[in-house]
Amino acid sequence: MALEHGAINLSQGFPDFPVSETLIALIHKNMKAGHNQYAPMPGTPILRNVIATVVQNSFQRTVNPETEVTITAGATEGIFATIAALVHPQDEVIIFDPSYDSYAPSVILNGGKPVHLNLHPPDFRIDWDLVKSKITSRTRMIMINTPHNPSGAVLAESDLKTLEEIAIQHGIIVLSDEVYERIIFQDQVHQSVLRYPALAEQSIAIFSFGKTFHATGWKTGYTVAPEYLTAEIRKAHQFVTFSVNTPVQLALAEYLSNAENYLYLGSFFQKKRDFFLDQIKGSSFRPLPCLGTYFQVVSYDGISKKSEADMATWMTQEHKVASIPLSVFYKDKSDNRLLRFCFAKSEETLAHAGEILRKF
Ligand code: PMP
Repeated sequence: MALEHGAINLSQGFPDFPVSETLIALIHKNMKAGHNQYAPMPGTPILRNVIATVVQNSFQRTVNPETEVTITAGATEGIFATIAALVHPQDEVIIFDPSYDSYAPSVILNGGKPVHLNLHPPDFRIDWDLVKSKITSRTRMIMINTPHNPSGAVLAESDLKTLEEIAIQHGIIVLSDEVYERIIFQDQVHQSVLRYPALAEQSIAIFSFGKTFHATGWKTGYTVAPEYLTAEIRKAHQFVTFSVNTPVQLALAEYLSNAENYLYLGSFFQKKRDFFLDQIKGSSFRPLPCLGTYFQVVSYDGISKKSEADMATWMTQEHKVASIPLSVFYKDKSDNRLLRFCFAKSEETLAHAGEILRKF
């Protein structure tokens, strides 16, 4: 709809600024050097080794790159392969809505049953007592996502500790979608499941280079999980995609070896968030807290009584700024008069959008 109506597209989560020239040159170098054939099924050893080092440095967890790291075709494939491997027919999977759109379909396609629990604005916190009350003998998995798309909320240490207790007590596997691990603001510490040794023994952490290096089109991600879970995930991964493209993996291995290439991301995107917030200052859009991700949720309660879907459509067609209604991320289509704007855009794009949004 954004294309059709010539609207500034702040809807989908993809950056409109360039990928690092160095990284592009590294891919080119690897292609020229003849690295254009199938990579090994679990990923190139050199990239898995570097990831193990990054995991050690970031979360103080020692992982074996041979048996605990698997390169996937984006986080989406990692999520799908994990669910295909570990969720069996009739298994229940707890999903917190609003949720990324691949979660529930991946569970359903594999015969599982999504159990949707709603998170509520403004802070979208998880009610762990509610979680406990929904656990049955069939609960196989809990899916979490921090920093959280679409809300911009992040989980705290206390959340992870409670989750750890629940997972251990009930023998539940945790799928932790951490694709925005580096896009976290105000000096907060990203609460990876990998920081919690007992929890990590029952968890799969999933990451995406697309998010970290502004290259969503490359579709390269990875899973980190203990050997007994990784062995199962690889059985699915082998027949979903077999392996992921070689030159990108080799280039990422070299690029990732330099921590300067990713440690700046939090402040980089915090500046973009603040720039966008500045742009909409003075309008009647009310921003909700955004502690991570590159999405800003705003309430338009003071502007219109329209449904979220109608509001997003109207804004795209009539005012030429596209956003995403939060209701589409809820199974029950909860409508709280909230829109999600992606600020992973150039300042020029954000300023153009601001000119329009400030009129409200
Ligand atoms: N999880 C979340 C929460 C996301 O926002 C996205 C991308 N929109 C993904 C997973 C998918 O990542 P990838 O593009 O690497 O498949």
